[in-house]
Amino acid sequence: MTDNHQVRLAARPEGLPTPEVWEHTTEPVPEPAEGRFVVRVSHLSLDPAMRGWMNAGRSYVPPVGIGEVMRALGAGEVVASRHPDFPQGAHVTGIFGVQEYAESDGTGVLVVDPSVVPLSTYLAVLGMTGMTAYFGLFDVGALREGETVVVSGAAGAVGSVVGQLAKIKGCRVVGIAGGPEKCAWIVDELGFDAAIDYRAENVGTALRTHAPNGIDVYFDNVGGDILDAALARLRRGARVVICGAISTYNATGRPAGPSNYMSLLVNRARMEGFVVFDYADRYAEAAAELGGWLRDGKLRSREDVVRGGVADFPDTLLRLFRGENTGKLILQIG
Ligand code: NDP
Repeated sequence: MTDNHQVRLAARPEGLPTPEVWEHTTEPVPEPAEGRFVVRVSHLSLDPAMRGWMNAGRSYVPPVGIGEVMRALGAGEVVASRHPDFPQGAHVTGIFGVQEYAESDGTGVLVVDPSVVPLSTYLAVLGMTGMTAYFGLFDVGALREGETVVVSGAAGAVGSVVGQLAKIKGCRVVGIAGGPEKCAWIVDELGFDAAIDYRAENVGTALRTHAPNGIDVYFDNVGGDILDAALARLRRGARVVICGAISTYNATGRPAGPSNYMSLLVNRARMEGFVVFDYADRYAEAAAELGGWLRDGKLRSREDVVRGGVADFPDTLLRLFRGENTGKLILQIG
């Protein structure tokens, strides 16, 4: 019998998740019960949100329980099935957890076709990443053609898609990212109009240079001081999209709030957060449009694939917080 290696949450982290918060376990591969199937997970999606799922307390989803397999989106192949809609050999994505084999009843699972795009792309531009960029920018951000868009975390999974979508809509796009390589990539390869290296430059001063007439849409992935600098440069009627705040996820104290929020009043602007899962019934609409842009070469999906086993999950997750990924971070298993 084959083993199923798993990574479980053993303790709630204080600050960055250290090796002690994880437990590595091995179980027999499950046999599917009637109406269920078993997936061999080949790709795990690494998401900053995982850090939030490890905390106790109220959020948009319940926390991962102590002793539970860590929650994770993944992709893989059905290897045993007693479910008519998910036959053996089908490729699927879903919340399978950090483990090699997952049993499912099909809830939230999508059948995908790896002959169209690689499986990893269904976790990137055609997965939660792409959905987040699409609904965050177009729905929450209410983007209009020709506006000035600023996005933080610009060389990451969501941010790199946001900038490309805004370029497709004829906008001026300024990306904020860490380091010269990432800044060069978003301008030279993805077509952003300008990049700001927040590690080397004063973001407020650089925004004055690159968005001289102010910001219409600020898509925030990082929070903290960068959010404050963007708030100070809003244009009248601006929309600030609160997608995430990765700079605060490992904070041990209470993070400081934005001090420039009165800019919302002065500029008759709006700041709004969202959770991509609320758009689940419209994913097909977004996937069709994103897929079309991918096919036409207007949109690029960059997947930063680390090869290893589920045991490499804890260290791979930390790459997100060290800024070691460009595009969508994925752990390919085996
Ligand atoms: P990314 O691929 O962007 O990876 C994280 C990146 O964040 C790193 O590469 C790093 O880039 C940057 N970063 C890390 N620490 C800091 C810091 N202290 N200050 C500034 N930047 C930092 O991840 P995703 O694209 O998957 O996620 C981006 C954001 O979107 C996250 O905040 C996430 O929580 C959020 N999100 C929200 C969703 C929703 O429904 N609202 C759904 C999905 C994601 P660099 O080298 O440039 O610093």
